[in-house]
Amino acid sequence: MTHRKPLVAANWKMNGSQALLAEITALLASTNWSKIDVLLCPPATLLPGLAATGQCLIGAQNISQFSSGAYTGELSASLLMEAGAQYVLIGHSERRTLFGESDELLAAKMQAAIGHGLTPVFCIGENLQQRQQEKTEQVLAKQLAAVYAAHPEFIAKSVIAYEPVWAIGTGEAASPEQAQQAHASIRQQLATYDAKAAAAVRILYGGSVNGKNAAELFAQQDIDGGLVGGASLNAEEFFQICQSA
Ligand code: PGA
Repeated sequence: MTHRKPLVAANWKMNGSQALLAEITALLASTNWSKIDVLLCPPATLLPGLAATGQCLIGAQNISQFSSGAYTGELSASLLMEAGAQYVLIGHSERRTLFGESDELLAAKMQAAIGHGLTPVFCIGENLQQRQQEKTEQVLAKQLAAVYAAHPEFIAKSVIAYEPVWAIGTGEAASPEQAQQAHASIRQQLATYDAKAAAAVRILYGGSVNGKNAAELFAQQDIDGGLVGGASLNAEEFFQICQSA
């Protein structure tokens, strides 16, 4: 069986502060995390401050599909990397729904990230209606196909995050069984492009992960860690979630 090192990632969204960054990185520094990877994705303005602490892996929350030029307000892969980023979230449901990011745009962002050596955390997930209509696997397969059908070589360079939209920020996480089933189907779909890479790729669960439910979710066979929103803004709870991996 392929060994996959667990990864616990914090998605702060448009929250946090330098003070919270100092608090969390000080707490993280109290433990040796050799068995798992810990990734913080704070707002981009906090990336250099995080890099200066030398703690944990560093991720951005968004990236431009362009390399440089007249794109006011955008941040390119090389700017993010210069600020310290090693990872970048791509395709978060808030970007897809609130900012209208299409499968085509996300494919271009994946290309921009991987082309410059950033590791994307590619987020996919069904909404409530799609789940109720039993279209979950179909939706996940389509979101994966939009990137990996043309670029199976991207699988080995990615982390995937399964985030059911109905579970994000609602306090209603997927059950471990629901999550495991979705993760297994994601891995199966990826295996149709590249079986070896599919077995090795880390698939994170996201959606109302907290200090209480993390251990049971992370114990599932195809769940390789989590992408944590709200609970990652509480230093002690995030620390506890990391310890559950
Ligand atoms: P949540 O957010 O943990 O607050 O549900 C997860 C996410 O959006 O990545």
